[in-house]
Amino acid sequence: MSDKNNLEASGKSPKLMPTVSSLNNQSEMTNILKMMEKLLHWAAIVESSDDAIISKSMEGYITSWNTGAEKLYGYTAEEIVGKPVSVLMPADREDDFPNIMRELKEGRKVDHYETRRKTKDGRVIDVSITVSPIKDASGKVIGASKIARDISEQIEYQKRREDFVSAASHELKTPITTQKVYEGLLKNLMEKNGDQEYLPYLQKMMQQTEKLHKLVNDLLQVSRGYMGQLQLDKTKFYIEDVLEEIINDLQKTTKHKLLQIRHEPKYVYADKDRTGQVFTNLLNNAIKYSAEDKEIIVSTFYRVNEAVVSVQDFGIGIEEKYYEKIFEKFYRVNNGTYPGMGIGLALSSEIMKRQGGNVWLESEVGKGSTFYFSLPMDEES
Ligand code: ADP
Repeated sequence: MSDKNNLEASGKSPKLMPTVSSLNNQSEMTNILKMMEKLLHWAAIVESSDDAIISKSMEGYITSWNTGAEKLYGYTAEEIVGKPVSVLMPADREDDFPNIMRELKEGRKVDHYETRRKTKDGRVIDVSITVSPIKDASGKVIGASKIARDISEQIEYQKRREDFVSAASHELKTPITTQKVYEGLLKNLMEKNGDQEYLPYLQKMMQQTEKLHKLVNDLLQVSRGYMGQLQLDKTKFYIEDVLEEIINDLQKTTKHKLLQIRHEPKYVYADKDRTGQVFTNLLNNAIKYSAEDKEIIVSTFYRVNEAVVSVQDFGIGIEEKYYEKIFEKFYRVNNGTYPGMGIGLALSSEIMKRQGGNVWLESEVGKGSTFYFSLPMDEES
């Protein structure tokens, strides 16, 4: 007997009982309704976000625009949807567009990119943008979604902080220099008079003044514009000899075992003092961020056009998400746990880049870090 006959025999109306196909339709409907609910939910989030969220086609035309975008740029959705995104670019940032599009075409995301954009009333604002590719079902990139956040206040705050640091370090420089001169005079006098009682105190004082002097110099160097004027005195020298001298000096101040793996020395062509400053920064960090019973290994290897120095510690390590951030001025991961100002790596990276080299790292949390810096080889070596 068919299902229909069965139902009729039982006295139930076949119309009230769902068939298999209507069941399918019903569950499909439920799914569609759920999906629509979800979409509406997401749309409400996008709409109410304070961040500007917009989408654009691969040709660079704006396809959607939320209230956050309206607040940030001043255009309403009606005014701007369908217009090219270049409307938002100030003259000095027109290169942004092709660069961003290149990344998107490759299916890559552009994360927290700091740039400037133009508002409807002609103001130029600092923004941080994240652009992600939108793909169709086959995985083809068909557009992009863009989240922009106004960071003008943050930039202004950074500028004020840098101005303060620059002014304070300038003011501190003169009294410290004078103090160093008088300490030198006093030392000469004491040595001449054969004073043995107070001389050790003076020497301790002089060491502290030297530390202070170095701190103020570092602060001065991170001031805006300083690096642009930095004069580099490039010569050819054996990098491994410079490293050895610094290692020997620092070994006197720490219980860590500082090891140097030496190779056949080759000449590099760079500013010797500045290179020493970078190495000292990296070695001091390795000491600071690892326990004193651990070793620190310094090694140098040579590639075709460059020498690469590595400083390996077995300390606290760094999470990968901080690899770029730690090179920013004043950025510190372990704020408060370890002493420091967060400028050593910013300075080191800037100095090496100006010398035609670079600074980078590999690390594993809890196991340790290896910082590398590269510098050009002397062409004849
Ligand atoms: P500072 O050490 O004064 O904070 P740096 O600019 O030298 O400043 O370093 C920035 C941040 O990078 C540090 O605050 C620390 O969080 C991290 N860091 C640097 N070197 C190491 C290292 N060898 N091991 C672990 N963390 C490090």
